[in-house]
Amino acid sequence: MKFEDYRIADGIKTSISKLGYKKPTDIQFKSIPAILKGEDVLAIAQTGTGKTAAFAIPILHRLQERKVLGRPNAVRCLVMTPTHELALQVDNVFRTLGKHTRVTTYCIHGGVGQDPQKEKLEDGVDVLIVTPGRMFDLVSQGALDLSRVETLVLDEADHMLDLGFIKDIRDVMRHLPTRRQTLFFSATINEEIKDIAYSLVRSQAIRIQISPKDPVAKNIEHAVAYIEMDDKRFFLEGMINNHPDAKTLVFVRTKVRAERVKKAMERVKLITDTIHSGREHADRERTMNSFRSGALKILIATDVSARGIDIPNVEYVINYDLPETAAQYVHRVGRTGRGTNKGQAYSFCSKEEKEVLAEIEENLGKPITRLKVTKAEYANTVANTLEPEIDKKYDWQALIDEHQVEEEKRKKKKKKKRK
Ligand code: AMP
Repeated sequence: MKFEDYRIADGIKTSISKLGYKKPTDIQFKSIPAILKGEDVLAIAQTGTGKTAAFAIPILHRLQERKVLGRPNAVRCLVMTPTHELALQVDNVFRTLGKHTRVTTYCIHGGVGQDPQKEKLEDGVDVLIVTPGRMFDLVSQGALDLSRVETLVLDEADHMLDLGFIKDIRDVMRHLPTRRQTLFFSATINEEIKDIAYSLVRSQAIRIQISPKDPVAKNIEHAVAYIEMDDKRFFLEGMINNHPDAKTLVFVRTKVRAERVKKAMERVKLITDTIHSGREHADRERTMNSFRSGALKILIATDVSARGIDIPNVEYVINYDLPETAAQYVHRVGRTGRGTNKGQAYSFCSKEEKEVLAEIEENLGKPITRLKVTKAEYANTVANTLEPEIDKKYDWQALIDEHQVEEEKRKKKKKKKRK
């Protein structure tokens, strides 16, 4: 089946062909006809499968077909996403695919002023893409009317639940018409997600599951190496130096660690940047754009900030710290090998993380390939660092410990003197 064979507006077909999409991906093949018919859909699809276009194409077509000229716009499609970045990305897909239609799209998220958002809503938009927090602000102020929504999309629903948006999702239902189409997209499934999904979609919803056996896409090679916590930075340095021009996304556990890894790379003259919730929205966006364009090659990110975002041509994903769950693992490695590209993902697992690794593998349903690092290779990697001797000798923890010991000594001395 080719896109030309679909019964969708010519303007949308033009955009699809400009994007270079020839045939639908699996999720698109399965969901587009159902959404066009107005059915509810419950889809379990990993990231990078083309799921955004899978709902944007049929939604745009339906809105375009039924757009009544001269009538003020009301929000007719509401897309809820977990993060700013994902909201902007979904908005971009709608805008690109809808360029040759009359459908209007707008994106609302926190971290920026409300007034321009209110003005835009007053003018009216057809498709509204939101993150839950700001949306509720505007609904409660009466600036956002959701009573004419025909289609509700929950994108990355599992991530929204992880972030604690469950109550927000339930609350928004009160503002929506009961007769509506609901499209529920999640990368992973468990009992909690099933419960919420079934409470939102109609009983005859079309259920779609993509690659249930291996949640990691086939075009991603992924492996794990045993590397001790304090040596991880040398291995990252080595990997970057081995592939200096490769676009590499490095995941760490916390924002503090993100900044530390950046500093460690700075000491060996490697340019990186970070994206995490501790940075201003505008800085995050600037960094993301620079990484997207390829000007920045190495981006260090936390899960929350980077999940769901689509960056073209990421060649390597490095799990500098292992994620806590299999779902996070799937999301992280899914940042590479997007669409029809190939990608590689490596995880660094320290002694302390072995338990987490076992859990991840159990939930993935299969073991992750072990990357063999011989003793000599390990020693070489640590020895070949450009890091000054002083830094190597005194790693961060050692520095902190040393500082504490010194402090104790100082206090004891003081006490003695007083006596
Ligand atoms: P998503 O899963 O929506 O984040 O999409 C992942 C990537 O797949 C994006 O970079 C899309 O541009 C790309 N993509 C979506 N649909 C197709 C298609 N039919 N053919 C080729 N690439 C596609």
